[in-house]
Amino acid sequence: MKKTAVFPGSFDPFTVGHEGIVIRALSIFDEIIIAVGANALKKSFYSVETRKKMISKVFINEPRIRVVHFEGLTVDYCLSNGAKFILRGLRTAADFEFERAIAQVNKVMAPDVESVFILTIPEHSHVNSTIIRDIIRSGGDASRFVPKAIRLKDYKGDE
Ligand code: ADP
Repeated sequence: MKKTAVFPGSFDPFTVGHEGIVIRALSIFDEIIIAVGANALKKSFYSVETRKKMISKVFINEPRIRVVHFEGLTVDYCLSNGAKFILRGLRTAADFEFERAIAQVNKVMAPDVESVFILTIPEHSHVNSTIIRDIIRSGGDASRFVPKAIRLKDYKGDE
């Protein structure tokens, strides 16, 4: 059976850290659905459509990756799309604590869906969408923190 993972996140914007996780996960899963959602705790900088466009550019030549917008619970999205895995990335112990609680609650709600974590490479531990948004808002050059395929000046934030 096809192994499908959902990689949910706000991806505001998608970074080299996110890209690294997805590329490594391609050796584990047959298909990855990058699910762009709104994070209730964070006000978005780029619109969902802009984020989807940016991410689609990065994986334009990868037929095993789909980029979608989703609302609601990640486990519900997984169940209605035949995905048995939730993919998440880990940078720090703080990420682990945050992810642990979510994964354990998800496990109660959907026992057949497994959360799979990939530890980021050391060079990406400091890469953080919140800091990147601050750099962009302040007129700085954040290009080294996003995948090469994303030309930040082609996109407008704070929409
Ligand atoms: P969310 O708002 O759902 O936390 P993010 O876009 O911030 O969405 O992150 C999505 C996923 O990517 C999370 O699992 C997060 O821990 C992971 N992630 C974020 N930055 C990095 C990075 N630099 N390296 C690896 N994983 C990362």
